[in-house]
Amino acid sequence: MSNVISANNKPMLNAYPDSLGGTLKDIVDFLSKDELTSTFSSFYILPSLYHTDLDRGFSVIDYGLEKNLATKKDLDALRKMGIDLKLDFILNHASVQSPQFQDLLNKGDDSEYKDFFINWNKFWEGKGELTQEGYIQPDEEYIKDMFFRKPGLPILMVTMPDGKKVPYWNTFYQEVKNTPQGIKYLGQMDLNIKSDLVWEFYDDTLHKISDYGASIVRLDAFAYAPKEPGEKNFLNEPGTWDLLSKVRELADKYKLTLLPEIHASYSEKIYETIADKGYMTYDFFLPGLIIDAFENKYGDTIVKWANELIDKKIRTVNMLGCHDGIPLLDLKGLISEEQIQSLIDTVVARGGYVKDLHGAKNMYYQVNATYYSALGEDNKKMLAARALQLFMPGKPQVWYLDLLAGKNDHEAVKAAGAGGHKEINRTNYSKEMIENALEKDVVKRQLELLKFRNSYRAFSFDSDITASCEGKIINIKWKNGEYEALLKLDLESFDFVVVAKTGEDEITV
Ligand code: BGC
Repeated sequence: MSNVISANNKPMLNAYPDSLGGTLKDIVDFLSKDELTSTFSSFYILPSLYHTDLDRGFSVIDYGLEKNLATKKDLDALRKMGIDLKLDFILNHASVQSPQFQDLLNKGDDSEYKDFFINWNKFWEGKGELTQEGYIQPDEEYIKDMFFRKPGLPILMVTMPDGKKVPYWNTFYQEVKNTPQGIKYLGQMDLNIKSDLVWEFYDDTLHKISDYGASIVRLDAFAYAPKEPGEKNFLNEPGTWDLLSKVRELADKYKLTLLPEIHASYSEKIYETIADKGYMTYDFFLPGLIIDAFENKYGDTIVKWANELIDKKIRTVNMLGCHDGIPLLDLKGLISEEQIQSLIDTVVARGGYVKDLHGAKNMYYQVNATYYSALGEDNKKMLAARALQLFMPGKPQVWYLDLLAGKNDHEAVKAAGAGGHKEINRTNYSKEMIENALEKDVVKRQLELLKFRNSYRAFSFDSDITASCEGKIINIKWKNGEYEALLKLDLESFDFVVVAKTGEDEITV
């Protein structure tokens, strides 16, 4: 049983709607520039496209378009340019400000949405002790296999109409402020996948996303959704796979290709299970592998990974940077602990931040930096990394800041306060900053490579790809009928050549 994989393997831009000039209309204008035409066939617009509050888009109030940032006209313009969309479906949670949570807050037990979210005390009823603060502390036997992203229990205490404080499950961010008008809180409230109303909401949401022009749907943090006392609350099996196949039934109705998002160590082979089940999957290994290969001048691991993707016919979306950090946890089992540590040290020495889980040793999660800064702001390395990404099997996703050779934004991190480390790689560019960036050779050359990757017929999901490493030289070749594209990249000098062959004709790109 496989999901409709209708997605092509051409380059995809990735940005927030306000990343490039201020609005989505500005991004449409950006993509219409001569320098940019025919560089991208897809665009992953981050979820601040919708009505959202926290976590720069991942706390959705509702899936209507945020009119200060985007209109239906902009989406239609993208469609006319031949650009399809990747959009987020955030199925694990919704904002405190969502109509469903607001209804619950206003009507309490009389709300039709009373089971739409996860009332912590109902979930754990009979499985722990009620504390003085009013939440159940689950007994160790029921909670020992659970994994929490933040210290303490994942709870947000909310006040019901009768004044009672009730804890609700809140895996991701929350913000609680004491104001003169009383306590104000925001949070990404976990949804209860056992509620029929949640499934109606899922269906409506996928319908809406497909109407916006989505072809790929990113399933944000889906592995946190299935929960049972005494079991794992992340990648609970078979709960997670059952959830995915139910979502797939809905997605198939709207001809949407699903891209489940999950970070897990290489050795767990989750990417392979996802691919075996017929989904596209993320290549979260590539960003770290490239830095590791470049720093150690060693290409065997990356080539081994390319060959695994080829042999197992795994269809990926790959990237250098993205709105989150450079994944670390994922690399466990693919490169050694010492190599991961030295990757962290390199990126931190170049101004990045390491994000770990609970500060525990070897519990690193990701390292935050722009990819350009992570590479030491070295133009040659940036171009070599881009060339390598474009030749790796998969659909290349391109973070706008990498394209524009953006540097670490320490000011933004300071301004964001505690927990604002991700802002290092999320700078919004003004039109003037964009114009300046487009003058740079490191940007112009990336655009040339992207145009080639976007239009040359050697590149398709059905091409024959071969990858090898001889000493410090990586060779990757794509062949589709009479069309061939070759990359030869030197890990000593970071020089590379790209050659396009059609029958007897051969040109250097
Ligand atoms: C996103 C994060 C977000 C989280 C919660 C992740 O998958 O990439 O940026 O904070 O989900 O929605």
